[in-house]
Amino acid sequence: MLIGHKVQHNAAALRTALLGKKMVRFEAPYTDSILPQVGHTIEEVRNLDRSIEIIWDNGIVLNTRMKIASSWDVYRNGDTWRRDSAHADVLIDVQDWVAVCFNTPEIDVYHDFDPRRHPILGKLGPDLTHVDADIEEAVDRMMDYEERDETVAEVLLDQRVVRGVSNVFRCEILWACELHPWANIGTLKRAECRELLMLAQEMLQNADTSSNNLAIYGRQGKSCVRCGDVVKVNHHGEANRVLYWCVGCQTAHEPLVRPNFTPLYIERDANMGDSHPAAKQFMNEIISLRDVG
Ligand SMILES: [Zn+2]
Repeated sequence: MLIGHKVQHNAAALRTALLGKKMVRFEAPYTDSILPQVGHTIEEVRNLDRSIEIIWDNGIVLNTRMKIASSWDVYRNGDTWRRDSAHADVLIDVQDWVAVCFNTPEIDVYHDFDPRRHPILGKLGPDLTHVDADIEEAVDRMMDYEERDETVAEVLLDQRVVRGVSNVFRCEILWACELHPWANIGTLKRAECRELLMLAQEMLQNADTSSNNLAIYGRQGKSCVRCGDVVKVNHHGEANRVLYWCVGCQTAHEPLVRPNFTPLYIERDANMGDSHPAAKQFMNEIISLRDVG
């Protein structure tokens, strides 16, 4: 198989196994940089020319370079592995599936580009995962936000305003408040900022990212549970993170001019549930390829 096809094929299998799932175990014995953390959700798998990138909801990116002998294998729990586990370069376990990378010449782990996430650039905002986070201070930081036309979706990920808001909960919080994700931060009133942040804190305290408990995240193409409109997904912001939202009911503070965004098709619709016929067929193909190999 040509390297480009192999990368595409491996990435497709990874999407089926990992997208939208919470990671329960991560191993990369030969890497000593920052590592993806257990409990975070896998948000995207990108196949590049000769590498595969896996992106978590907290902005961590794992890039594995692929050569002819490299591969990402996916196994269902309990499957017999085709290769010796002792030779695995990376292992990602999401409970029902495990993805394993072998023979990669290079592993790179980094934060998705967003200079504002870097702590040296300013004092960090309150951490909303803490019970005693100072909400009023976070409200002040929102109200004093320098770029008044920045979108509320971006501000929620700015570590100088608040910390602890993963991308999953950014989408959930905006939906819960019926806020347009591209609302300019300057249009929000103090009471609205407070309501948004209090709700965020409550959600983060009771964080449960199993898909049954999520209202909007990962539901692209499905009906919004509140208004019945179709849930959309776009790339948005400097870090180009995925954003799930409902055009039907997230209308508060809709901006007159929308910032640029990239409409996005995530190859997940057909693969999210194993009950879907396309997913079944896809998985049968992978399994038969695996058996042949
Ligand atoms: Zn809706």
